[in-house]
Amino acid sequence: MHSNTSVSDHTQSYIDREERYGAHNYHPLPVVLKKGEGVFMWDVDDKRYFDFLSGYSAVNQGHAHPKIVAALVQQASQLTLTSRAFHNNLLGEYEAYICNYFGYDKVLPMNTGVEAVETALKLARRWGYELKQVPNNEAVILVCEHNFHGRTLNVISFSTDSSSTHHFGPFMSGYQVIPYNDIPALAQALQHPNVVGFLVEPIQGEAGVVVPDEGYLAQAAALCKEHKVLFIADEIQTGLCRTGALLACDHEQVKPDVLILGKALSGGTIPVSAVLCNDDIMLTIKPGEHGSTYGGNPLACAVAIASLEVLKEENMAENAAELGAYFRNELIAFQHPNIVLVRGKGLLNAIQIQHAHPDAAWDLCITMMQHGLLAKPTHGDKIRFAPPLCITKVQMDEALAIIKKSLACLEN
Ligand code: PLP
Repeated sequence: MHSNTSVSDHTQSYIDREERYGAHNYHPLPVVLKKGEGVFMWDVDDKRYFDFLSGYSAVNQGHAHPKIVAALVQQASQLTLTSRAFHNNLLGEYEAYICNYFGYDKVLPMNTGVEAVETALKLARRWGYELKQVPNNEAVILVCEHNFHGRTLNVISFSTDSSSTHHFGPFMSGYQVIPYNDIPALAQALQHPNVVGFLVEPIQGEAGVVVPDEGYLAQAAALCKEHKVLFIADEIQTGLCRTGALLACDHEQVKPDVLILGKALSGGTIPVSAVLCNDDIMLTIKPGEHGSTYGGNPLACAVAIASLEVLKEENMAENAAELGAYFRNELIAFQHPNIVLVRGKGLLNAIQIQHAHPDAAWDLCITMMQHGLLAKPTHGDKIRFAPPLCITKVQMDEALAIIKKSLACLEN
């Protein structure tokens, strides 16, 4: 077991400098990347890798997509930031474009994913007080066990992962955690009259690509509607074609009351996130009550329009659906004794490794890295496989061959 993780002195020098000067809040694979194109990245020694993480699904359109980069460069030379103290010539165009694209009245632009989650939570509370007549300061938002919605103090307040919460308290109140994929638990929690929203990931990405039972989202959305509770979908990781449909909720014909997007909204270039909903919810926030210096900046607007156009122009949902099904079938066909689970939807997939050695999944990732494919373990024994959605069948076969060859490391 235990793959040899030695790297070149050149590579090690970059790692050492990060270790010396950067906070130790990540545990990356020992690879130092300098270039990306499509499904590939190259390290500082010019070795090529398949990217099977896609920046945690931010790079759905592929690295350095020419259309997205062109929009970025063109706009960067014109105007990048005005702040929202003034109007800019692209904000309205982008707002109209994204609202029509997803079928909502309005959008509120933010930057990172967690900021969009925070925005959605504020909207739900505001809506609850002003339209559902919930007594002030008593709103409850339902969330799921093993959720991942980001890292701010408010959002980790309802995390069930101790590595997110340990010694970061005290936490924000107003949340109730219920089991994921459990309709009776949701129905029970919805009895409380002060519930204003149900925040849910259509597939739990960080938890290890946990796909709920078919019908869960549709039933959950119907129950929320029945109880006048907002169904808030965090599609930051699952949205934008990743699961083989524009939104993961589309698989069950569910239209969230509040839709949260991020990551691939900029094709992996700059932080761009968004919250979409209809006027009854969005207009409860008035001027001066919420915002962000960079939210809705013209650079982000130009990049987001291009990123959304690319998803449709290049049929990325269809490609993700087709090659995702093929990928899972091929992995299952390996019939490898240490792969005890293959799951996912579209190109958001994970395997679970069962092995006597607790670091087996990490060691497999190191071996895949050595063979030219980058993926990262999550929760110890699971490995997520999520390549850019522009991957071709030929490239997928090459990647599968690398995974197959690398599995041999589990045998000694
Ligand atoms: N929500 C989900 C479902 C995510 O997967 C993530 C990031 O992984 C976030 C929110 C947070 O996004 P960000 O890291 O851009 O704040």
